[in-house]
Amino acid sequence: MSEKFDCIVVGAGISGITCAGYLAKAGKKTLVVEKLSEVGGVTAARDVMGCKVSMNIPLVSKDRYGDANGWAKAAQDFGADVRVVNCSVPRIYLAGSGKPPMPLPICLSPEGAAKWMTEILAASRPDLMENNIERELVPIMKEIYETPVEKMTVDWDEMPVKKWITRRTDIKGIHFVFNMMMSVSIYTSDADYTWNYGNVGKALEQFRIWISGDGKMAVPLPNTQFGICVPLADAIRKNFNCEIRLNQEVKKVIIEDGRAKGIEIIGKNGEIQKIFADEVVVSTRWVSYSSIFDPMPVFLEEIVRQASSPEHYMGGAFITFIMNDSIKLDGAYFLIFDAKTGTNILGGCAQSTEQPWSAPEGKQFIWIFKILTGKEYEKLGLESIGVEMKTHMETMFPGFSDALVWESPAQGRHAPTHFYYNSQPKVRHSYPAIKHLYFAGDCTYPMYGLLTDGASSTGFITAMEILGVDQPADI
Ligand SMILES: Cc1cc2nc3c(=O)[nH]c(=O)nc-3n(C[C@H](O)[C@H](O)[C@H](O)COP(=O)(O)OP(=O)(O)OC[C@H]3O[C@@H](n4cnc5c(N)ncnc54)[C@H](O)[C@@H]3O)c2cc1C
Repeated sequence: MSEKFDCIVVGAGISGITCAGYLAKAGKKTLVVEKLSEVGGVTAARDVMGCKVSMNIPLVSKDRYGDANGWAKAAQDFGADVRVVNCSVPRIYLAGSGKPPMPLPICLSPEGAAKWMTEILAASRPDLMENNIERELVPIMKEIYETPVEKMTVDWDEMPVKKWITRRTDIKGIHFVFNMMMSVSIYTSDADYTWNYGNVGKALEQFRIWISGDGKMAVPLPNTQFGICVPLADAIRKNFNCEIRLNQEVKKVIIEDGRAKGIEIIGKNGEIQKIFADEVVVSTRWVSYSSIFDPMPVFLEEIVRQASSPEHYMGGAFITFIMNDSIKLDGAYFLIFDAKTGTNILGGCAQSTEQPWSAPEGKQFIWIFKILTGKEYEKLGLESIGVEMKTHMETMFPGFSDALVWESPAQGRHAPTHFYYNSQPKVRHSYPAIKHLYFAGDCTYPMYGLLTDGASSTGFITAMEILGVDQPADI
C-alpha cells in the first residue's frame, strides 16, 4: 500500500529542515527526503588532511538572535542543541594601496559609517575623492541603518546594486566604494558583475551586519553542518516525530489536475515508488528542478533558463594551507580587495585561530577562496588562479611561503551557482497554477536574511504559508 503523509519536504538542507520542523511542530505528519547520506546540503564539511573544513561562517541577521526567523530562532523553537561562539573581527586589505590590513569596525552611527567609507575610498582610490563625499554618504548610510529588515529583504531583494545607488547619488567615488562593499557582501566578488547584477537587498543586509553590528557572524561548534543542521534535524526527529529519509533521491514530483500529490522515488528493487502527501515542498535549489519536474511548470521555465545563462556563471577556487608557526596568522576572516577596481580578489580564514578544534594539532591551518566571473575563470584556468592566490598570501602574510608545510591543489569549478545572490527574479514560495506545491531554499523570494540564516527563513515562510499562519509584521 502506498504511504501517505500530510507534508513531504524534498531536500534536507538548512531550509528543508527548518520547514519540516515547523510543519511537524504544528502536528503535521511530515517526511523529509534527502538524496545524500547526511543532512546539511551545501554546508557539508569536507575532509582535508584528517581535518573537517567548513568554509561556512553563518550569519545571523539582527542583533537579537532569531528576529529574522532563521536558524537561530528555529534552534530555540525546536529545542535544538546549537552552540555558537562569536567570530573575531574581519580584516580588510586593499591590495595595491600600500596600506596595512585594517579591521572592519562596527560603526555605531551612520555618520561614523560614512566617515569610514570615505576613509576606505581615500585609501583605495584617492583619484575619486571629492570634498562632499562624506557629507553625501550620511543620508545613504542613515537609510541603510534605519530600513526595516522586511523592506530590505522584500522590496530591495530583486534590485541590482547599480539601480539602487545611482538613484541616490551620481558621485562616482560613492558608486565605487559602495559597489566594493556590495561585492564582498554577497560574494559576487567581481566589481563589474556586482554593479550590474548584484542583489542589493541581500548585500545591504550583510553589510549592515558587518558595519552597524546589526547581527552576528558566528562560529558554530564544531561547524555549520554538525553544529547547526544536524542538531536541528535531531531535534525535529526526536521532539516532533519528523521522519528524515537519507540516500533517497526524489525522481519526480507528482502533479495531477493542477495540484501536487506526492513524489516518486526508486525503491529497493529498482521499481518506482509513490509517496503521497497533501502538501509538497521542494527545497532543493533550482539546479535540481529540471530533474524532478516533468514537464517543467511554465512559471519556472524562464527563471531556470535565466539562471543557467552563461553570463551568470561564476568561478570559485579554494585552497587550504598547513603551516608551521614561523609566522603568526593573527586572526580570522580576511578580505583582500583590488584597490583599483574594487573587486574582492581573495577571502579566507585562519581556521587554526578561529576554529582550532577542527585544525591539525600544533599547526596553523588556513583556507582561502576566490570568486570570479565564469569568463575570467575560463580565460585564466584553475592552475594560474591558484598561483595568483598564493602570491596574495605572501603579500598579506610576509614569510608565508617559508612557513608553508603543505598545500592542497587549487580546487574549484565554474557554475551558475551565484544566481541566488543576484537580482534576477527568484522563485516564489508558491504559485496559483499548481496547488499544494511550495518552494523553499536560498533561491526563493522573499528570504528574511541571507546565506544560511536567510535560507532557513525561507523554510519558515513556507511552513507558515502551509499552516495558514500570518507572518509577524516586523518579522
Ligand atoms: C561555497 C559556499 C560557501 C558558503 N559560505 C557561507 C557562509 O560563510 N555563511 C553562511 O551563512 N552561508 C554560506 N553559504 C550559503 C549557505 O550555505 C546556503 O545558502 C544554504 O546552506 C543553502 O541551504 P538550502 O537548504 O537552501 O540548500 P541546500 O543546502 O543545497 O539543500 C538542498 C538539499 O536538497 C537535496 N536534494 C537535491 N535534489 C534532490 C532530490 N532530487 N532528491 C532529494 N534530495 C535532493 C540536496 O542534496 C541538498 O541536501 C555558502 C554557500 C556555498 C555554496
